[in-house]
Order: sequence, then structure tokens, then C-alpha cells
Amino acid sequence: MWGRTSVADRTPGRDRTDRADRGGHPPRRRSSTRPAERTRRAEPTRAAAYHLLRAVEEGAYANLELPKVLRRSHLAGRDAAFTTELAFGTLRHRAFYDAVIAVAADRPITAIDGRVLDVLRLGAHQLLAMRVPDHAAVDQTVGLARAVVSQGAGGFVNAVLRRISEGDRESWLVRVRPPGGVAALALEYSHPEWVVTALRGALVGHGTATAEAVDDQLEALLRADNDPPRVALVARPGLTTVDELIAQGGRPGRWAPTAVLLDSGQPGDLPEVRDGRAAVQDEGSQLVALALAAVPSEATGVTAGRWLDLCAGPGGKAGLLAVLASAAGADLVANEVSEHRADLVRATLAPAIAAAVERGSTIEVRTGDGRDYGAEEPGTYDRVLVDAPCTGLGALRRRPEARWRRQPGDLTALGPLQRDLLRSALDATAPGGVVGYATCSPHLAETSFVVRDVVKRRDDVEILDARPFFTQASNGALIDLGNGPFVQLWPHVHGTDGMFFALLRRR
Ligand code: SAM
Repeated sequence: MWGRTSVADRTPGRDRTDRADRGGHPPRRRSSTRPAERTRRAEPTRAAAYHLLRAVEEGAYANLELPKVLRRSHLAGRDAAFTTELAFGTLRHRAFYDAVIAVAADRPITAIDGRVLDVLRLGAHQLLAMRVPDHAAVDQTVGLARAVVSQGAGGFVNAVLRRISEGDRESWLVRVRPPGGVAALALEYSHPEWVVTALRGALVGHGTATAEAVDDQLEALLRADNDPPRVALVARPGLTTVDELIAQGGRPGRWAPTAVLLDSGQPGDLPEVRDGRAAVQDEGSQLVALALAAVPSEATGVTAGRWLDLCAGPGGKAGLLAVLASAAGADLVANEVSEHRADLVRATLAPAIAAAVERGSTIEVRTGDGRDYGAEEPGTYDRVLVDAPCTGLGALRRRPEARWRRQPGDLTALGPLQRDLLRSALDATAPGGVVGYATCSPHLAETSFVVRDVVKRRDDVEILDARPFFTQASNGALIDLGNGPFVQLWPHVHGTDGMFFALLRRR
């Protein structure tokens, strides 16, 4: 018979276990509580992490699901931070934990019920990567299994987690890591093997590493993908200032003069973010918009002042481009194919649209297929951004489940779309005007191969060196921009998402 008294019941204050969980580095201890006396209640932070994992399993995006889960569970402050680290860390390191669980459970993970497997993954992350004492990790995770699956599942989870707790991360790595090469890196840093291979190719292909010296860079990149990114805000010029955000606890960004880093606190608590004068935006994305705007109009030879963001949803770069266009006296069209995402662009641009009216320029949001612009509005725009739909392999640290969801076949589907969008953008550009082609992926198949492939089939396009505009956009701060003419930013070098940018001019 199960005891009636749970750990939570016996400890005054719900957070007692949690406080112990998070303080310092306690020695590894076994639970002195007999199984029958252990909790069968799901402690709220772990239950929330479990529900997030289940939602992701059913197709949700972790970063969109997280605020909903936290709100439903009434979690804030340190509890919310604990749940975030537990769920996101578990998602990131899934391959390693699955290998450990298979050994500890003595069966392939495909033979384990999906709900139980998620509970075990959460337990493995607490035992092998978090400062949670073993007894708390095991007891609370067993309680979670009993609450969300069944009593029987609790016994199985208890046995497997006890076996996992017999080793630490390093000793488990020694046991489950393949002997070497891509497979070893894929397991240690928990990336699919095809992604490791692609990132290795991208480091060499973009000239960031030589073939001989790529291994150190690759390891640093894979490690950086597992580091939760710092929260970066963009202060949209003309709507707010960097100083206003710094006054509320931020500090200046590393590269972009519009960037502010937040070390603590919720961005949504800032009034500037709530009313759209500032937003959460990676510095790499800010630099893309700033660099395109930095191309002097004497260089384009075009004074039409019509800018186009061809793939604008949900509106991050458009939010910055819009105020930069207005400041330059230009009009902006922000286009997005998805109705829902076009609505997000409208919401993002609302403050910029209001400000543009006062300045006499226009910002228009359209829902449409970017592939039609070249035929429908040929030679119309002097500055065009193609922030192309891509695999997002440069933003893996931001989207913890993306690495498992993406498949090599995605590249096959995206390649023709990326080429069509770039061709359309070039056709929609007036002679002398420029097109910036960007991806949040360094994969060669969706970056330099796309650009070179499109350019070689036309005689009216030249590739410009994009590096000076990134240097200018960062007020000279940005270094390590490689050999050009393209710019490839890297999480392990620049601390930004892995943005790619090519600058093309229509002759
Ligand atoms: N620039 C955006 C930002 O900074 O927030 C991100 C753009 S995202 C990488 C690519 C966008 O392209 C997606 O919103 C997607 O819906 C859109 N898209 C996909 N196919 C498109 C098409 N044929 N025409 C226009 N937009 C398209």
C-alpha cells in the first residue's frame, strides 16, 4: 500500500524541496525514504516541465508553449527558471539521455511508453546536469510518474533513475559514447548526426575553419548550441532608446548599437516591450536589418526610397527596418505569405506605422506570395530583404527541440523556394538597387549555394562584399567576419544566432 503522506505534505512550505534542489552543490545522497512512503504528487515545477515536453511531442514549439505552461501552473521567478532549465535542457540533451536510459533500463527506448520516457528524460537531466540532490531528483520524478502515468510506472522510473544515479555525466559519457568521429560528437553534444556533418561542412565552406582545424571549432559550436542564449532586446530607434532600456536593468549589447542585454527579469514586464517600442531580438538579426539599411543610397544609385521585406513574418526584422526606412525618408512594404503571420507583422509594426505617418512616409503590410513580386512589380524597389524560410540550424540554442524535428529532406523542399524568392526579389529590384539574402542557418545548401546558383544564371546581378556594412552597422565593433563576400555569424564566435547574409546588387 502507498503511504498517504507525500514529501510535499511533510515539509512545511511547498518550496522546501525546491530550495534544497537549487542551493549549492550538495553531496550525492541516496533517498532514505522507503518507496511506499515517497511522494505520489507531481511537484508543480516538474509537472509543468513534463507537460511542456508532452506538448512538444505533439507538435508544439517549446518557446511558444513555455509561457502558456508557466501561466497555467502559476509559476514565476525561480520556479519558472527551474522549469525552463529542466524542460529546455532535457529537450536539448535528449540523445545523450536516451542512450543512458536505454542502458539503465536494459531495453531500447522504443520499448518504453512515451510518457514514461519523458519522465525518465526529466529525471536524467536533474541527475546528470542540474544541481538537484539525487534523492530529490529520484523521489520527485517518481512522484511525477505516479501522478501523470501510473503507480506501476513509478516503480519502473524509480529503478531506472537509481541506476542512472550510480554514475555522473562523465562516467555515463564514457559508457555510451561511440568511439569517435561524428557519432561521438552527436551523442556528447546531443545533435543529430546529419546536423553535425552539415555544421562541419558549413564551418569549412564559409571559411571559418580549415579542414584540418575544424574539429575544435565544431565542438565549440555544438557546445554553444546547448547554451541558453542571453535575452537580447532591440530598442527601435525613434520609438525608444538603448538608454531607456539600460535604465531598467539592461546593459549594452555586444555588437548592435540598438541592442540591450537583459540578465534577469521578464522582457514582457518592460513597458517598452509591451507597447512595441522595443522587442526581444537576437543581435545577429538586428545586424542584418542595420547592415541592409547601412548601404548608402549613392552605392545603389537609386533614390526611389522604396524598401521591401519579402518574407516578413512574424516581423522582427521588419520592426527595425520600418523605423530605419522612415528615418531615411523611405517607404516600406512588409510582405508575408501566411495570413496569421502577416497579422503578427501588423501588430509588430503598429507603433512604427503611427510614427511613419507623422514623418510622411508609409509602411504597408501585405499578405502575399513573395514569389509573385518579381513578375507583378518588376524594377520597383531599391532595397529588398529576403529573410528566407530555412531550417533554422543557426538558432538551435534558441529552439531546443528544433534539432530533432528538422530532417535532411527539409533542405530539398526549401531549396527551390529559397531560389524562387531570391529571383523574385532581384526582379522586383530597380537597377542599382540591392537585395539582402539572409537565413538563420549556416547550412551551405541554403546559403552560399543558393546565392551562387541564382547569380550564375543571370547577367544583371553582382555580389557585393557585405562585411563593411556589418562593420558599419556595429559601429566598428564586429570582428571575425571571415574572407567575404558573404557574412556568416556564429553562436560560438559572435554569441549571436548563426545568421548568413549575402548582399547583391542589380546592375
Ligand atoms: N524576417 C522575419 C523576422 O525577422 O521576424 C523572419 C522570416 S522567417 C525566416 C521566413 C518567413 O517567410 C516565414 O514567416 C514564412 O511564413 C515566410 N514565407 C514562406 N514562404 C513564403 C513566400 N512564398 N512568400 C513570402 N513569405 C514566405
